[in-house]
Amino acid sequence: MFKKVLIANRGEVALRIIRACKELGIKTVAIYSEADVRSLYVKKADEAYLIPGDPIRAYLDYVRIVDLARQVGAEAIHPGYGFLAENADFARYCQRRGITFIGPTPEQIDTFGDKVKAKKVMEEAGLPTVPGIPEPVTEVEDALKFAREIGFPVMLKAAYGGGGRGMRVVHSEEELRTAFESAYREAETFFGKGDIFIERYLDNPKHIEVQVLGDKYGNIIHLGERDCSIQRRHQKLIEIAPSPALPRDLRMKILGNAVRALMRVGYENAGTLEFLVDVRTGEYYFIEMNTRLQVEHTITEAITGVDIVETMIKIAAGEPLPFLQSDVTYRGYAIEFRINAEDPKKGFAPSPGKITAYYSPGGPGVRIDAGVYKDYIIPPYYDSMIAKMTVWALTWEKVVARARRAIDEFIVRGVPTNIPLYREIIRDPDFLRGDFGVKFLEEKIQKGE
Ligand code: ADP
Repeated sequence: MFKKVLIANRGEVALRIIRACKELGIKTVAIYSEADVRSLYVKKADEAYLIPGDPIRAYLDYVRIVDLARQVGAEAIHPGYGFLAENADFARYCQRRGITFIGPTPEQIDTFGDKVKAKKVMEEAGLPTVPGIPEPVTEVEDALKFAREIGFPVMLKAAYGGGGRGMRVVHSEEELRTAFESAYREAETFFGKGDIFIERYLDNPKHIEVQVLGDKYGNIIHLGERDCSIQRRHQKLIEIAPSPALPRDLRMKILGNAVRALMRVGYENAGTLEFLVDVRTGEYYFIEMNTRLQVEHTITEAITGVDIVETMIKIAAGEPLPFLQSDVTYRGYAIEFRINAEDPKKGFAPSPGKITAYYSPGGPGVRIDAGVYKDYIIPPYYDSMIAKMTVWALTWEKVVARARRAIDEFIVRGVPTNIPLYREIIRDPDFLRGDFGVKFLEEKIQKGE
């Protein structure tokens, strides 16, 4: 096992990884930008090093980060999510410099980081995918040609994208012309490559994803599914495990086929296969695979008792998976709420600033993963998520009652947050019935409900 691990990330996920390391008896090294001097994870790590200069670059400058790991004697780096987590060049550079990257191989990151390639590979491995074009395009005329073949409405997506960026729903040729330009520019800005691909737009499917773990010896298992349909602008806000509205047969089919497909291509460490699912027709389509720890891993941990971050570290250290598929059991339901500092009055725009009061909920079945505290000043440079609340209970009714109680307990003052929105959703009859697809929230907000 490693003696020292460097964490190439910040905020709540850095703290999450520090906690896993502590429980394994591993020393932790944090890095931080000038904007994160007062962050909680910096205080909790055994060692912490300032990366001066640009506050975003601090977490992206991998040559510097790997050099630091070598200098301080860390044998491995955990990238968390975002920043370098899905950067194959970084994983390759770690390898070259004798540092273990806690995640899949660079080749696997490359394959799945290209969404078009990922679809092709998984289709060949037996998974249904959303009908779409075989290659990304850079010219609007090519996009138009394909869109006519697929038929409107279509979805434009950044081939190397994530976080809902560079994505547009398009209903007509005219609309495609304008949307293409803006999606292309957005993709270029955020991902360095503007390449766009097109697929059929599905009407209000559920977003169902499968957590998988694979070791270096070809063993691959799943830890069940998560229902991540509660989204805004294609970004997840609330996630549930297991899905409260996925028929049993369909669930078994998706989980089994996901693992079988991954076995064909081979996969190492933690990953998530994302699907769009129509629960009425039983149709399901693979859309992408994330080759990293996900924000919402906590709900899977809550229902399975598996420590996913710990398992990632063990796999990277060369240990075989500590359990078989048949050892994985599920208990109850878990819901995660992403607490974001954003202003509902300004279209949920990020609202950094000083937190003047902070009381997080507690009691039975409540887990908080946060990177903030009273008097903490949220820097403007990063993601607006300041905390995650994961609630667990034995039954769906109970987890809803508990989530309602816990979200009512949650107090953050000084900056607006989406807590009031959650107080409404957790009382919404459609939500409570599990009757929701990815358009649920936008439709509610539009109607002003
Ligand atoms: P990202 O990697 O940017 O998160 P994804 O491909 O995972 O993008 O899609 C994010 C969300 O966008 C999905 O959960 C779903 O709500 C929506 N979406 C993606 N593809 C389609 C599609 N073909 N039809 C309808 N909605 C889609």
